[in-house]
Amino acid sequence: MKTKEIDDFFDTKKAACRGEDITLFFPNLPAGQTRKDVQLAKQLCDQCEVVEGCLEYSLHFEPMGFWGGKTEVEREVLRRSKNISLPMDRRPSPSARRAANAGRLRKTAKRLDLANG
Ligand code: SF4
Repeated sequence: MKTKEIDDFFDTKKAACRGEDITLFFPNLPAGQTRKDVQLAKQLCDQCEVVEGCLEYSLHFEPMGFWGGKTEVEREVLRRSKNISLPMDRRPSPSARRAANAGRLRKTAKRLDLANG
């Protein structure tokens, strides 16, 4: 069976972030991006025509970074509410694990208006 790839979820040529500084979307990298950088990434996602496919892909395959207009923690909450598991070789991101350990996933679920977070 063919492994699902990013192109199976959305047309990357239509991505609003195409050609943008990729570090905007990985605020936890050592380069250390600011809250303002995350807002810039969110603005790009908000105007992106493939945001739904990007989010769906990232829920299944991407623990790290900002995808489909959602942070790592927001996506972890969505995964739990939709019973989606990341592949074994892709553990939840460190920030999502920290949020879970600190009990912050429920608060994020409330903010996202998810009843089963
Ligand atoms: S939703 Fe955001 S991260 Fe995904 S392709 Fe569009 S701009 Fe890039």
